[in-house]
Amino acid sequence: MVGRLAGKNAIVTGAAGGIGLETTILMLCEGASVLMADISEAGLSTALNKVNEIVPPASRIGKVETKVVDVSNESHIEAAVAHLDSWGGLDVMFNNAGIMHPRDGDSEECPEEIWDRTMNINVKGVWFGSKHAVRSLRKHGKKRGSVINTASMVALVGAATPQLAYTASKGAVLAMTRELAIVHAREGFRFNSLCPAPLNTPLLQNWLGNDKEKRFRREVHFPTGRFGEAIEQAHAVIFLASDESSFVNAADFVVDGGLTKAYVTPE
Ligand code: NAD
Repeated sequence: MVGRLAGKNAIVTGAAGGIGLETTILMLCEGASVLMADISEAGLSTALNKVNEIVPPASRIGKVETKVVDVSNESHIEAAVAHLDSWGGLDVMFNNAGIMHPRDGDSEECPEEIWDRTMNINVKGVWFGSKHAVRSLRKHGKKRGSVINTASMVALVGAATPQLAYTASKGAVLAMTRELAIVHAREGFRFNSLCPAPLNTPLLQNWLGNDKEKRFRREVHFPTGRFGEAIEQAHAVIFLASDESSFVNAADFVVDGGLTKAYVTPE
């Protein structure tokens, strides 16, 4: 059976984390070759072991490699994209790396340094990834390409549990992605934002820890009564990456179990 991403070359940033790892695994299952990019070398090594366990080399059509990349450093992104030149050039860019800093807070609490760090990774990283994806697609004469940028549902609703820098950064991802989508539409390059709800991944779960009150303040809003799973985001990314979504462009692609459409949730 030919996979939905057969012959496509993809970069996944934040590939050692929850969404990035699950997406890498599904991409490989669908026949893509994947460069897993992350700032954490140790994280990449653990993630690669998991990938090899779930999708053993003998069962893959595509290849998988890892590269240490800080997405806020343009030369790192440039080198990661160039790494795919010998593969035939990039087809899919998943700009997914992001941070939610524990010292983020409301407008009084958030230190300027945390604001800047969050913007550098969550916004500038997505800009660099999008910019070099476009350059590569043009360089290799590609007639189509898919760039998926991870935002968050907090960019769509106001939350009374503030992480102001994080929320602002994800709002910027939505606006930037929308504009890129329109600018490059006639070249065949699609740009969509993924808007996940709170998930069972280290990013949020480490931050919530054993704080039952903090946890309840979020869980109560889910119509489903549960956090999302990273793999549920990954399935959406596969759709956006594949040609099945060829007419899906500039979307705020919300995968949230209905959370952003709910008023009062069931008991
Ligand atoms: P995660 O913390 O499990 O993974 C994030 C990965 O990004 C980590 O492996 C980390 O090492 C990497 N990373 C951090 N800074 C980096 C940098 N400068 N350069 C390269 N890599 C870097 O988080 P996740 O839940 O998988 O989050 C992925 C994306 O989804 C993020 O953009 C996050 O904001 C977004 N998101 C997450 C949730 C959630 O509840 N987990 C909800 C909405 C949106």
